[in-house]
Amino acid sequence: MRRSAVLIVKLAFIIVLGMRWHFRVLRDSWSGMLSCPDCACSRAFLEKRAFKAFTLYWWPLFRTEEGGHVVECMHCQGRFYPPEEVRPYLSAAASSLSS
Ligand SMILES: [Zn+2]
Repeated sequence: MRRSAVLIVKLAFIIVLGMRWHFRVLRDSWSGMLSCPDCACSRAFLEKRAFKAFTLYWWPLFRTEEGGHVVECMHCQGRFYPPEEVRPYLSAAASSLSS
């Protein structure tokens, strides 16, 4: 009985608190058409900023790691590193990192 109570507390702790990657759209995020490797055709893409955060439930409390900028396919939600041809058009933060 007591052992199962400890297990329930441990599981609740794992479910409530955690670390996971988040992807946010910036105010000046790039959007446009690119060839999606997963869809194998031209799709609409949106730039997002990736960061890993310590979470309470699904809310990020504080960031632990920056993941840079990615482009996300609006059809299949596949995320990829921005191809070379769109890097000059990414948000100001991404452009300053690459130069
Ligand atoms: Zn796609």
